[in-house]
Amino acid sequence: MTTSSGLSLSVKPFPEEEAHPLWHITRKAKKNPVRRVLITSGIHGNEPGGVETVLAFIRALDAEPDRYPNIEFHILPLLNPWGWTRNLRFNSNGTDINRDFSSFESVKARAIRTLVGQMRFDLVVNLHEDPEATGFYMYQYARPDKVLCRQIIETVRQSGFPVEQEIRMLLLKTEEGLIDAPLWGLWYMRLTRQLSFDNYCRLELSINVFTLETPMQGPMDTRVAVQLKALHILIQALCDPLPGA
Ligand SMILES: [Zn+2]
Repeated sequence: MTTSSGLSLSVKPFPEEEAHPLWHITRKAKKNPVRRVLITSGIHGNEPGGVETVLAFIRALDAEPDRYPNIEFHILPLLNPWGWTRNLRFNSNGTDINRDFSSFESVKARAIRTLVGQMRFDLVVNLHEDPEATGFYMYQYARPDKVLCRQIIETVRQSGFPVEQEIRMLLLKTEEGLIDAPLWGLWYMRLTRQLSFDNYCRLELSINVFTLETPMQGPMDTRVAVQLKALHILIQALCDPLPGA
């Protein structure tokens, strides 16, 4: 199915989970040089803000077909449809699909790899929410600097939305809204078979990978507005010519 604005929807059934197909929305670029962008959400079925944001983004693309003419979009709005219908983080086997990108034991991790694993992207953005967070934060992976993320976090802060100060994980913690994952951390996650989809994207699909996180508390429209703003800044940064170019 293709809309007059150029958005194209395909529904990809996978034999083992036919009742819960993956939706793949694409939009071709209208201008050169073409940049390819992947946007995903809903790998955790209980994080509604990311999915709502991606749906709002798709509606905006449909309403403004001339925006981002250089960009070919690939959008997977719901990576865990089984979990989504039950408001559950995991899949029907209790697997966190987002930690299955070393072993690929779940149908959906394999299905996602089949869909996008052969492509390369100029930008990947994965949208999540965090039940324990009280503010916005984001991840970057093996990047040379923090300039772009700091710009986004500052924009969020200035909008009046709280920024997460401290979330501690196994190896990482937030620093004023940013988790800066080093390359060795990705390899560690792969070796210990905990590789996340985001880590996999950085190692296999793109050098520019970001994860956005909003807290699950507070009004949905505010969470969506914050994620949308961050998403647009990331895409715009890709469209702007490099300094000195
Ligand atoms: Zn999540």
